[in-house]
Amino acid sequence: MAERVDEVPASALAIYAHPDDPEVSCGGTLARWASAGSSVHVVVCTQGDKGSSDPSVRPSELADRRAKEMAAAAEVLGLAGHHALGHPDGEIENTVELRSELVALLRRIRPEAVVCPDPTAVFFGPSYFNHHDHRVVGWAALDAVSPAAAQPHYFPEAGQAHAVGTVFLSGTLEPDVWVDISETVERKAQALLCHESQIDETAEWLRTVVRERAEEAGRQAGVACAEGFRLFRPAR
Ligand SMILES: [Zn+2]
Repeated sequence: MAERVDEVPASALAIYAHPDDPEVSCGGTLARWASAGSSVHVVVCTQGDKGSSDPSVRPSELADRRAKEMAAAAEVLGLAGHHALGHPDGEIENTVELRSELVALLRRIRPEAVVCPDPTAVFFGPSYFNHHDHRVVGWAALDAVSPAAAQPHYFPEAGQAHAVGTVFLSGTLEPDVWVDISETVERKAQALLCHESQIDETAEWLRTVVRERAEEAGRQAGVACAEGFRLFRPAR
């Protein structure tokens, strides 16, 4: 059985593609850490400007709306900061530019833990395969953590080298640790509800789905509600 991780990192940076990804992937964990005194930051790499199936929506207006939703969600989760890199939705690539931006942020915030998508997770059942941006950002985050941020000769203009202690990979097919989010599952749902542009269903429906998924993970973790991750400790 996978273990439970109860200790709280002093600081954390969650690196994701779209404005609502952190809440979906690890909102309960970020809220738990923040309420325990951890300094938790989030960086979102795209503007989320293609996140609508309505052809009449203007991408630039959607991006503005989603930036406000992200700020509201950050408040609910109790984040110390939220950052946006502003790349176009669906067109992000794991380039030197993206890695240099992530390295600069890692060296400025100097998080003990990083949370990001598991880029090796592709097929989730018969009807969903992982979004291009999630896979790209997962690889870019890992590449930025190690070796780039930790080694002084990578992007020397981006600040003093910083070694991240632990990486929590979310959206993984191989969870090996659990974080107990029994106390913060409601806050996760509340933060998700801030992303109004992404929600067609009722608040009650969304709260139920969030709780049911957390309870399913909780059963495996031996707690009421949990989020699962694949834990990785980059070699120093
Ligand atoms: Zn996404």
